[in-house]
Amino acid sequence: MEGTAMDNRQAFEPREIVQEDDANLRITWADGQICRYRAPQLRRMCPCAQCVNEWTGERILRAEAVSDDLTIKDIQLVGRYALSFRWSDGHEAGIYSFRYLRQLCDAGATDEVSEKDGGTDAA
Ligand SMILES: [Zn+2]
Repeated sequence: MEGTAMDNRQAFEPREIVQEDDANLRITWADGQICRYRAPQLRRMCPCAQCVNEWTGERILRAEAVSDDLTIKDIQLVGRYALSFRWSDGHEAGIYSFRYLRQLCDAGATDEVSEKDGGTDAA
């Protein structure tokens, strides 16, 4: 709503997707932003119909139901627009579109971005 970057289609294209270890994912976006995701955080934000009421948008999944030790078992590319994860708890229904992943990152719903080049966030 506030940023022009959200309207930039290119911003939702990952340039690089790296699974750093069992529980950490890093995405470098086409616009240069680097986002880090931790498995338990991503799992808690699962957008599937089992985790979110598709009519009300209310989150059914409770944060405390997801272990902090959760890991990523598998990552699959869904078409050219999304990722799907298989978690160590067996859940694999969520389709995380790149747009959604980017929004999570921009909203600060994931790990702190630690590798920003110290740029000024003036505007
Ligand atoms: Zn789910």
